[in-house]
Amino acid sequence: QENISALLEGTPTGLLINGEWRDASDGGTFDVENPATGDVLATLASATEDDSRAAMDAAANAQESWARTSTRERSDILMRAYDLVKEHTEELATLMTLEMGKPLKESRGEVAYANQFMRWFAEEAPRHYGRYADTPEGNLKMIVTHKPVGPCLLITPWNFPLAMATRKVAPAVAAGCTMILKPARLTPLTSQYFTKLMIEAGIPTGVLNVVCSASAAKVSGPIMDDPRLRKVSFTGSTPVGKQLMKTAADRVLRTSMELGGNGPFIVFEDADLNKAVEGAMAAKMRNMGEACTAANRFLVHESVAEEFSKKFGERLAALKTGNGLEDGTDVGPLVEKKARDGVAELVEDAKEKGATIAVGGKAVDGAGYFFEPTLITGVTEDSRVFTEEIFGPVAPVITFKDEDHAVRLANSTEYGLASYVFTENISRALRIGERLEYGLLGMNVGVISNAAAPFGGVKESGLGREGGAEGIAEYTTTQYMGLPSP
Ligand code: ADP
Repeated sequence: QENISALLEGTPTGLLINGEWRDASDGGTFDVENPATGDVLATLASATEDDSRAAMDAAANAQESWARTSTRERSDILMRAYDLVKEHTEELATLMTLEMGKPLKESRGEVAYANQFMRWFAEEAPRHYGRYADTPEGNLKMIVTHKPVGPCLLITPWNFPLAMATRKVAPAVAAGCTMILKPARLTPLTSQYFTKLMIEAGIPTGVLNVVCSASAAKVSGPIMDDPRLRKVSFTGSTPVGKQLMKTAADRVLRTSMELGGNGPFIVFEDADLNKAVEGAMAAKMRNMGEACTAANRFLVHESVAEEFSKKFGERLAALKTGNGLEDGTDVGPLVEKKARDGVAELVEDAKEKGATIAVGGKAVDGAGYFFEPTLITGVTEDSRVFTEEIFGPVAPVITFKDEDHAVRLANSTEYGLASYVFTENISRALRIGERLEYGLLGMNVGVISNAAAPFGGVKESGLGREGGAEGIAEYTTTQYMGLPSP
């Protein structure tokens, strides 16, 4: 408890604008709650529209000199921050569990994953080469270079408070862009602590500005109206993403959008069922199911559905739900009451449409926003758990007859982010993989996120890729100079 008070005391509560921690211009604040207890953890400055404009000014003013820094300089800042994040794993993980709810062991896992982006983009920074080539006619020399796109607005969600920040901040730093980071209202503390480490790592004044606010629109509105902004990168829900894209159209802003998912998890009759259950636990229960990559629909061949459901159900029933700070907790609370009520409604809807609740199915009484790990069998295609993103520890099972049927069910959604296929037949895996309209595909594995891999969706799950060699390209523009061949 003393350690936690000291940690919260050491976490900045202000707005970072032009290298200074400031109060909001109108003195306004908002509270951050612990979803496991309902207690208030901290009170932070809530940015006004004037504060947002000040952050935009700072980012715009710093852009030119920041773009001129060497890639080595930027890489070194990222590597120093990588070392600091590693050194402060416990602090970051504890803050994350406090404000977001996930079990401490998962929070530590997220810190390590988040930090992969720092190292990866430190390595990519000096290697984002251009080219010097001849035109096919031989009359011109072409010089093709990559330049930073310019000041960026980075909007992050609450479910992965650190990884979603580093996945945007690290490539923006590597590319030479200045930034305004807008963390989610529910989980700003992790970002605030990370920002402190970025300052310690030597990020220059004005390059990184961080504006938390009770009102997302107060931050995004004035910044997206400003002609000096060149890009918006957003991770969050599809409706908000669409709204931001409409606003971005007025300024022809570059956009990167990581939106919702409705991930199918397909288990064929020739799958290794133990492996499939292991994968299912990871793909469903990581982050209490609050991940856009979560397995949302378990599509299981009719001949193995009973056995798979039995094994999966036993594992789900054995999980320990509780405060993420306590040893032995497997499942933390959902992020807020509204989230838990939404999950409960989806389960009710499935029941009304004839499905069976095999395990769990209810909210847990008492303080905090807990929901039991839940398995639903006999789910129908018109159920909301089949068509909507669940974002909770609920696993609906639906059966299929053959490959065509599985592919039809899997693709029958407007989303296209993560998908999973379990089969021991490699030809089938490739055949199915090519037919799935998804940006990410786990083959016999339940978690595939890695900083070296391009992460992103198709259809209404988004635009652009984060991570991989693709991740830095999102933050650069290409310039071509032609000159006569000598
Ligand atoms: P979720 O809350 O499920 O993560 P949201 O899309 O509501 O999904 O939120 C993701 C991020 O987008 C958060 O930082 C949130 O504050 C921000 N956000 C929400 N609405 C808007 C908006 N109209 N304009 C800009 N940012 C927004």
